[in-house]
Amino acid sequence: MQIDWPSIQTGRADTLHGTTVDISGWMIPLDPQADTVDYFLLSADEPCCGGCVPRNPLTSIEVQMAAPLAPHAQALALRGRLLRLLDDPAGWRYRLVDALPLDRPQAPQRRFSRRAFLASGAALGLTACAPGHFAGYTEARAETAQPAQPVQSAQSEAAPGWQAPTGMLTIDMHSHAGRVIVSRKPAIGANRPFVPLAAPMRAGGMNVICLAIVTDTTVTRVADNRKRFEAWREPEPGELYALGQTEFQRAHQLIAREQMQVATDTASLTKLGPLGPSVIISAEGGDFLEGHVDRVDEAYTQHQLRHLQLTHYRVNELGDIQTEPPVHGGLTDIGVHVVQRCNALGIVVDVAHGTYALVKRAADTSTKPLVLSHSALATHPGARSRLITPDHARVIAGTGGVIGVWPSSGTFRDLHAMAEGVKRMADVVGVEHVGLGTDMLGFISPPVFRSYEQLPDLASALLLAGFSQAEVGAILGGNYRRVFEASVG
Ligand SMILES: [Zn+2]
Ligand SMILES: [Zn+2]
Repeated sequence: MQIDWPSIQTGRADTLHGTTVDISGWMIPLDPQADTVDYFLLSADEPCCGGCVPRNPLTSIEVQMAAPLAPHAQALALRGRLLRLLDDPAGWRYRLVDALPLDRPQAPQRRFSRRAFLASGAALGLTACAPGHFAGYTEARAETAQPAQPVQSAQSEAAPGWQAPTGMLTIDMHSHAGRVIVSRKPAIGANRPFVPLAAPMRAGGMNVICLAIVTDTTVTRVADNRKRFEAWREPEPGELYALGQTEFQRAHQLIAREQMQVATDTASLTKLGPLGPSVIISAEGGDFLEGHVDRVDEAYTQHQLRHLQLTHYRVNELGDIQTEPPVHGGLTDIGVHVVQRCNALGIVVDVAHGTYALVKRAADTSTKPLVLSHSALATHPGARSRLITPDHARVIAGTGGVIGVWPSSGTFRDLHAMAEGVKRMADVVGVEHVGLGTDMLGFISPPVFRSYEQLPDLASALLLAGFSQAEVGAILGGNYRRVFEASVG
């Protein structure tokens, strides 16, 4: 039988659990570069721009095909068995399994527009989405000199609105937006097409992002049924340093293409932040250092690095990670020297992904506040969990630092649940130690905050969770700004 999206969105489709249904929508592959896909999201809405995924988990379903299928830019119709998911770790409510394409694609409700075609072409990696290719994007570029102002969301008319206090900056502590990371596929590598960044930031009122390169990409891969990353081989000597050079270059290419500015100190953050979307250059993992502490200086001067996360998905020369058994007992002596070098030069030290032991030694070492840019609280995190205990969070707060709440759909069902997660974190460490780390374009499964255009909705959800206007300002940027100013000078 044919089912429609309202029955998915309202949960009426629960009664169809286990039955064969037909449904039409737009394909959103999680790996846009794949030639064929057997797992993807089917969305009720046209993808609005490259890399975009539906904002609301109830406007899409998971699809597991009976046989791989080439990515489709146009709407497609599928037949498969509908499963109602209970407590799915990724937060999805329905999955279509053993799915097969029906012969005649049907567009749900709307006809497929040229704009949507161009945009979803970018989403599928078919076009580079260069200026001029994407109507909404070029229009937005013409407004570069305009300050970023939050737009009122159509969905949140009844929800309380947040007004950014004068002079306040919204800051995302951790982001790979614009698709800054090189592809894991050697054939694509550093030639991976960028996706628009400044336009969604401007639309949602996000002033500044910590744009994070990743320098263990070539030696890590998705494991465990697509649920997490792990290192699968040792890097060659010089390999991850070279990858770091490529990624820093890519970050600067993206920034130039998007006509964004780089904040390198308190003065430039204060001056540039309100003028238009700006970037703090960041690295997720000190793998590119390959244990050479002097490369911290090189990255500071040559690439404008101002925020360094010590470890990522590989146990590197600096210390242990949450997702693998400990090897070093926490932060290594080289890690200690890297923290000291960051303190001396003026680089924010980020201990996300590090073990509790790593965080404690980093806190003992650092003379500046620490950042843990993307995680969330759990009373008893499982083995290899990226979540942190209240004690782990308190170590960060004890340095005067900030913990960024991470919008993983495995942890939060929607933005309201995320806002409650922010509240729990604030209850444990104090609201002045909580921030936002979206990890934009860094997830395997789409997160609950997946576009900067959702910022007004998140701000409303925070107000509804009980935070004051000023507290929302502190969470969405003020707290990170304090740590940046203390660390970078
Ligand atoms: Zn991460
Ligand atoms: Zn990340």
